[in-house]
Amino acid sequence: MLLHERHLCSSGNTLPKMPKAVPYSFQRKCVDGWELCCFSSICLLISLDNGLTRCGLTSRLISLTLLLVHHVCSLCFTFPQPPEKYLLPEVNINDYGKKCVVIDLDETLVHSSFKPISNADFIVPVEIDGTVHQVYVLKRPHVDEFLQKMGELFECVLFTASLAKYADPVADLLDQWGVFRVRLFRESCVFHRGNYVKDLSRLGRELRNVIIVDNSPASYIFHPENAVPVQSWFDDMNDTELRDLLPFFEGLSKEEDVYGVLQNLRGR
Ligand SMILES: [Mg+2]
Repeated sequence: MLLHERHLCSSGNTLPKMPKAVPYSFQRKCVDGWELCCFSSICLLISLDNGLTRCGLTSRLISLTLLLVHHVCSLCFTFPQPPEKYLLPEVNINDYGKKCVVIDLDETLVHSSFKPISNADFIVPVEIDGTVHQVYVLKRPHVDEFLQKMGELFECVLFTASLAKYADPVADLLDQWGVFRVRLFRESCVFHRGNYVKDLSRLGRELRNVIIVDNSPASYIFHPENAVPVQSWFDDMNDTELRDLLPFFEGLSKEEDVYGVLQNLRGR
């Protein structure tokens, strides 16, 4: 039984096509529109105030006008609000100008199991329901080389649907170089139709500069146009996928935005 499937993650590879989430950039534009509307109203009222005062009308009339404009705006416009808080902090000074890559953990970088394996790279104790279980973790071939290079090219974020009590100690052992600026766990996912979805619009980065690397299409169902799919990995020690992807990522890091290249990738 796979650790992340049984206890730590709900996975699924095929889902019906879902409507796309409203991109945050669009929401931001709406809020800008609201702010512009308020500003215009204030300008209008200042002009009205000057005009009405000259005409000798009372301030009560001005107050009524203000109230009327406020009500009309409230009735005519309902603007979506931005998320209260982004998942990522401000960009680190060392990552200015870099694209943001969101990297999955299980079956993308490692495979973990409760079943003892002789060649485990790490054994991580995890407490579940009061009992400590040993989790045997196998690193995907070339993962060290992959992480080091990705850390040079991108702002890297670990984003896993697994629980922090398992994934955090695994990341401590896996990421010896501090490649992952931030680690996001299950609670940062959106639970949507039985799957933990990684909603990239909540990161707080421009979506045209965000890439997600994940073995599970369900994880990026809101943003398939940002995805670099990878094959699920379990124990094939001859696997070369991570190493083979590096030239592709090197090219992608230099692009103006990610969409063109990733569209070509999907079209293959
Ligand atoms: Mg995975």
